[in-house]
Amino acid sequence: MKIKILSQNVAAKIAAGEVVERPLSAVKELMENAIDAGATEIKIHVESGGQRLIQVEDNGMGIASDEAAVALQRYATSKITQVEDLEHIQTLGFRGEALASIAAVSRFTLDSQTNQENMGVHLSVEGGDILAQEPAGLKTGTRIKVEDLFFNVPARRKFLKSENTERKAISDLVSRYALYYAHIRFQFNMESRQILNTNGSGDRREVLSQLYDVTTARDLLDLRVVDEYLGVEGFLSPVGISRSNRKEIFFFINGRLVSDSSLTAAVTQAYQNMLMVGRYPIAALFLKIDPQEVDVNVHPTKAEIRFREPGRIFGLLNSAVRKNISAFSNVPQISPTF
Ligand code: ADP
Ligand code: MG
Repeated sequence: MKIKILSQNVAAKIAAGEVVERPLSAVKELMENAIDAGATEIKIHVESGGQRLIQVEDNGMGIASDEAAVALQRYATSKITQVEDLEHIQTLGFRGEALASIAAVSRFTLDSQTNQENMGVHLSVEGGDILAQEPAGLKTGTRIKVEDLFFNVPARRKFLKSENTERKAISDLVSRYALYYAHIRFQFNMESRQILNTNGSGDRREVLSQLYDVTTARDLLDLRVVDEYLGVEGFLSPVGISRSNRKEIFFFINGRLVSDSSLTAAVTQAYQNMLMVGRYPIAALFLKIDPQEVDVNVHPTKAEIRFREPGRIFGLLNSAVRKNISAFSNVPQISPTF
């Protein structure tokens, strides 16, 4: 076979697979775009675990009519212009791949309006091909509707997890963002049921009460340790509350939900002698660090990161958690006798 460059259409579908692994990834990208757009209200609607429908509507800044089609191209972004920008990145997005990827593997509609224009724009796309673009009168903000995800990628469809697994994962994802971004009002419906409706007051305790049962929401401990290198805020379970797995331990780093086994270990080790073997704490921890200290561009989904000094982070986090739980635990302390 001769060596040739793949057509744009084929290349786009291959690349799309990296960014949009599953319905969950599409929900994450669209929600993050809404946050980056400065939305104070985000409405999310999911049907059939995201396979039939994912709709995300925000009241953010909107996309200008003449930029809508550009936004759908690969590597089209308004968030960075040069590679150095990555060192002090403040936005969740920067790769310019999400809309292009999602649109390549779904039936996609975008409606958006900025407050600088009288008319907004409506775009409909199928498998990456623009079918229609027309003016539309809307409120300021953006609504993106993703239908029949992976309709044109049968191989991917076959490997999708069950709808139930996906529903649980999407629900956890949206809940965690609603907790972190408590100043944004989240309305989240799935399969015609309301899952979440936060008030956008900025009170994270108020959001907790929608995520956990009454006792747990009330008894979770506050953590706040601000060091000049690392700031840690969030919630931890007291020793009387535990779980059978690590799934309720999660981290935001500079506003981004990330998974990092070393951070998880820093927390579980702090609880080591406090919980029974096989029991794990609940931890919702929000870390703030100079963006120069983290590389967020490790993977297309941006769920993994690298720290410049992982050992230092581990130590700081571990001791912050340790101090906090021992301060609150009523385990009798043995007083030293001299
Ligand atoms: P990225 O977020 O990495 O820039 P995306 O493909 O997710 O790339 O989006 C491309 C561009 O489209 C963004 O940079 C932004 O300018 C615009 N955009 C996407 N979603 C929204 C939205 N909800 N509101 C306003 N602008 C948006
Ligand atoms: Mg994005």
